[in-house]
Amino acid sequence: MTRIFLDPGHGGSDPGAVGNGLQEKNLTLSIATRVRDILLNEYQGVEVRMSRTTDVFIGLDQRTQQANAWNANYFMSIHINAGGGTGFESFVHTNASAESVRLQGIIHPAIIQQMNVTNRGLKRANFAVLRTSNMPAILTENLFIDRAADADLLRSPAYLDRIARGHANGLAQAFNLQRRGGGGGTIYRVQAGAFSVRANADQQQARLRGDGYESIIVQSGSLFLVQVGAFSIRANAEALASELRGRGYDVAVVSG
Ligand SMILES: [Zn+2]
Repeated sequence: MTRIFLDPGHGGSDPGAVGNGLQEKNLTLSIATRVRDILLNEYQGVEVRMSRTTDVFIGLDQRTQQANAWNANYFMSIHINAGGGTGFESFVHTNASAESVRLQGIIHPAIIQQMNVTNRGLKRANFAVLRTSNMPAILTENLFIDRAADADLLRSPAYLDRIARGHANGLAQAFNLQRRGGGGGTIYRVQAGAFSVRANADQQQARLRGDGYESIIVQSGSLFLVQVGAFSIRANAEALASELRGRGYDVAVVSG
């Protein structure tokens, strides 16, 4: 599992940059939420947490403490620029690790490709969230809220989708995330047991094979999940589940 920690900049009593009727804190939350949804809906083997999912104030230290405690593989902080200028730039810490610099080299161009705006470059800075995160980290600055033309783009939900798509594409490339089957929609998995002991999962798999069902064992946290099938249509998953129940298995249909 690749653990991606998304940090929508600012929030609550801290609006961040403001201009042209927009507030940075709302845009960063909207972009981060879209990045999360793309990753979870379209890729497998990835977990996502966010420093905030609502309009609340979170201190800078709290943000990285959450990511550090979770042992995230990557910290991505999302911001909107201000102060005269246009385009996109990204930052790693002044003393960033080679790995952090390598990942920036993959993610930055993926974002530029989607945003199709001025490339202000791959930069370094001593930002607090980059300094205090234990894992490779990036901070992105997406257009200038105080420039009318940039604000017009930021006002468009379709354009926020493109910004998010760029971030998600970059993360997927950087961490070699695999796409889900079934065309990117929700996948319904038929699960015949969750075991804390691997041998018990193996035993269940053998029993299923004896009954003519192939299954896979997936580790999730401390549990070994025995999954018999994955379907893009819920009714098909439910049909297999009831068939298995008829044979005496304890079955659940899980989506995601
Ligand atoms: Zn900011």
